[in-house]
Amino acid sequence: MLYIVSTPIGNLKDITYRAVEILKEVNLIAAEDTRHTRVLTEHYGITTPLTSYFEYNQFKKSDELLKKLKAGFDIALVTDAGTPGISDPGFHLIRLAQSQGIPVCVVPGPCALIAGLSLSGLPSHEFIFAGFLPVKSSARRKKLAAYQNEERTTIFYESPHRLLKTLQDISEVLADPDLVIARELTKKFEEVKKAKASEWIVHYSQTKPKGEFVLLLNLKDRV
Ligand code: SAM
Repeated sequence: MLYIVSTPIGNLKDITYRAVEILKEVNLIAAEDTRHTRVLTEHYGITTPLTSYFEYNQFKKSDELLKKLKAGFDIALVTDAGTPGISDPGFHLIRLAQSQGIPVCVVPGPCALIAGLSLSGLPSHEFIFAGFLPVKSSARRKKLAAYQNEERTTIFYESPHRLLKTLQDISEVLADPDLVIARELTKKFEEVKKAKASEWIVHYSQTKPKGEFVLLLNLKDRV
């Protein structure tokens, strides 16, 4: 069995009883960064061996893990934070295992986009998750332009060092919309606030962006 196991996005207590149990019981944990996951496993007294499975070794490593699964190993797949396969490695191994008749099951839990959406105060009955925007401004602007008539809440992930440039593109391409920034979810400095994209630009020009960010907007929402 291949288990897809969600892990905390900040607060170590955000893990299910079942996740801890499965991580203890499997033969191997495939982790994005074994050093990072070791903090979690040590905290919960999990002694299962860890092996790395990350973006740049995922194809080769999937074949290796598949052999082990076929030999009868139970393997848990985790990433550094949240749900595997969501802007994180996982998809390739999951599809490969399913195509080879290996049973795959999910142990659900934290996911930053869902935590951000539920906390945002934006309409959440329908939404779009757009992942990380392209790194190059021209591609990013093109992608943003495709959302200009979007009626559903749209969610992006962004890294602190690209935040300001992304905010500038959002402001220009989407006519300075209201934007919710959900920052450091489940951590000590968790913050959620709505402001105009231009106001966020002023803020983050004066204060260096730190931590992890989910950006959410709904172009049709008028309170
Ligand atoms: N698989 C993860 C999930 O289920 O949410 C996402 C991994 S992706 C590589 C990392 C991005 O998720 C960060 O750059 C940030 O945009 C978002 N993120 C992760 N943890 C977060 C947190 N505690 N608060 C806000 N955003 C977070």
